[in-house]
Amino acid sequence: MPPMRIPILLLSAGLCLTLTHAAELPFLYPQSDAFRQQLAKTKLRNIVLIDYHIHIRGGMILEKAIRRQDQSGIKSAVLENFGREWPLSDNAKLKGFIDIHAQPQPDGRRVPVGIQVNDRDWFTQIDPALRQRLDYVLADTMIMGLTAEGTPRRLWLPGVTIGDPAAWMVEYMAHNLRILDEPISILANPTYLPPCIAGRYDELWTEERMRQLIAKAVSKGIALEIQAGSDFPKPAFLKLAKTMGAKFSFGSNNFNDKTKDLARWFDTIELLDLKPADCWLPK
Ligand SMILES: [Zn+2]
Repeated sequence: MPPMRIPILLLSAGLCLTLTHAAELPFLYPQSDAFRQQLAKTKLRNIVLIDYHIHIRGGMILEKAIRRQDQSGIKSAVLENFGREWPLSDNAKLKGFIDIHAQPQPDGRRVPVGIQVNDRDWFTQIDPALRQRLDYVLADTMIMGLTAEGTPRRLWLPGVTIGDPAAWMVEYMAHNLRILDEPISILANPTYLPPCIAGRYDELWTEERMRQLIAKAVSKGIALEIQAGSDFPKPAFLKLAKTMGAKFSFGSNNFNDKTKDLARWFDTIELLDLKPADCWLPK
């Protein structure tokens, strides 16, 4: 009898290792009680969560996005940046990206595929046939103006300074409205402010400006994103957007294949008492 036990023990040890490994895969959500409860509460609201901001970068790949979806029930949509200084810098690269990621899986399912646009003339650069194949286009307002070297200024980078915040805000507001004029689907990280002036949010984002931005998004059917881990937009903006009939989308905005804490999503769903009709879906 004793020799018979050895393979069984080995088998159990192997199975145990496999399970531990699976539970620790960084691209899957940790199955904590708190997380399960939040998902159950969202389900009770009949809200189907879709993460429209999963970048294929830093080790994140389509297969992991699909496994994450299957494990959590939160639907995955994938995108990558299109623009001159970005991974999808021309139509050939964009075509390659769509060909790979929009392909149906063996079971026939397919995840929505989008792009994040970074140049303000993006819609004149994209082959219309390729644009047709995209499920959505996401844009944020976090690149404006030029650096001393003449490259687009990325407002989130350390060292960005703004001498006259009030004057800058006028320019930034125009930038926001211009982006909403583009044929985009989702405004990511709305009302973002660079770290150097983020403390002046209430002063710079006046109610009038918030209303102007929200009204334009609503009239054009553009979703306002609730991004995991972001401080923007603040509750005052979110509440106003809800009363003005805005649609909301959810996003994680990853830099690698690790999951993010989704507290921001769940808190906003509760804060705004969101219903399925408040959540944006591609046309
Ligand atoms: Zn992004």
